[in-house]
Amino acid sequence: MIRVRLAPSPTGSPHIGTAWQALFDYVFAKKNSGKFILRLEDTDQARFVEGSEAEIYETLNWLGFEYDEGPNKDGNFGPYRQSQRLEIYKKYADELLEKGLAYEDEGAIRFKINKEGSTTYHDLVGDKDIVIENSTQEDFVIIKSDSYPTYNFANVIDDHLMEISHVIRGNEYISSMPKYIQLYASFGWEPPQFAHLPLLVGSDRSKLSKRHGAKGALEFKKEGFIKPALINFLALLGWSHPSGSEIFSLEEMVEVFDFKNFNQSSAYFDITKLEWLNGEYIRRMDDKELEKELDEYLVDHPGKGKLAPIIPLVKERIKKLSDFIPLTDFFFDKVEYDMEVFKKLSIKNLSEILEKLLQKLDGLKKPWEASEFESTFRKMAEDESISVRDMFQLIRVCISGQLVTPPLFESIKILGEDKTLARVGETIEFVKNN
Ligand code: GLU
Repeated sequence: MIRVRLAPSPTGSPHIGTAWQALFDYVFAKKNSGKFILRLEDTDQARFVEGSEAEIYETLNWLGFEYDEGPNKDGNFGPYRQSQRLEIYKKYADELLEKGLAYEDEGAIRFKINKEGSTTYHDLVGDKDIVIENSTQEDFVIIKSDSYPTYNFANVIDDHLMEISHVIRGNEYISSMPKYIQLYASFGWEPPQFAHLPLLVGSDRSKLSKRHGAKGALEFKKEGFIKPALINFLALLGWSHPSGSEIFSLEEMVEVFDFKNFNQSSAYFDITKLEWLNGEYIRRMDDKELEKELDEYLVDHPGKGKLAPIIPLVKERIKKLSDFIPLTDFFFDKVEYDMEVFKKLSIKNLSEILEKLLQKLDGLKKPWEASEFESTFRKMAEDESISVRDMFQLIRVCISGQLVTPPLFESIKILGEDKTLARVGETIEFVKNN
């Protein structure tokens, strides 16, 4: 039976790197009809953060990485919270003390490392044997003086007792592999298989940080990234689809997943790639789906429930759900005008032109038709010696206060004739007073 585990420490909001590791656990378990276990490594009391556990659940839930066993889900290998397993660690530490393989030191218990020779283990990432000299290791603490275990001890005990078949984790643990392998041997246990994921780095190759756009996993949700796009992006971090395909679903990844498709080098976290992917996913959604997605995303937004006509206008123009807000504000809110925006247009006698614009709009037969609207203002541009572009940009600024909006005539139709006329009126007032 394939059994993998995600072992986050509840020391803050789960980082995007945790979601990334969870993806590979989930996919590998699914691919092999195995089990995905969530284990909370809460043995560092000083770093414990209230609320972090709930955010771990929320992250896994949002991404749909459903686990089979965990602190809030029954299983036969619990408890799944390390702070509830102290008796277990004590029992195994006592066993090592009895065997003379560990000793007490200032209230803590240390494991006696054998510094002779080297440790070799096989890593599934890169499919290679890795050799580490045992002389690089020191006797290490397994139980701290507060009677909590260290990670170095607890990971071995728990992975064994929880019958974990494959340990998938960050590569910062490779250098400690002699400790783990010797611990397994001291109990006469067979170690699991290991897959140490590539190092996550920013696009400038330095250690991944906020500066590179990496943050809490749930922040990405708040910023308007959508689930399948984020998952696709995480999949491409250090791993690639055997066909070279860049856009693929979670289900497809499960079908083709193999450790051999990990890259040997570091995984580059490129936030612009995520934005691009997110935009691609948005464009590929049908309008109904996008409407639903946006409606769920928007909180306290006047457009909630009234998005349908706007969706086709913005679909090609947004990369994140949050881009929708500034792009469509003018449909819902009062417009704020700014003289600087009008100055970007080459129109000298602005007030006069605006008055004429209002008259012409007023003269259009209702409901306004695209062709008549267009020919009227092309002609007006010619008569007034304004470029056609500036003519239509002026109308755009009148209705929205901005130079960039969804397509003009479609936007006007959504806004309605009366509101459009009113906005041109407001513009005239504004320009007079500024
Ligand atoms: N608690 C460890 C961490 O958060 C788990 C590492 C592992 O997966 O073994 O880094």
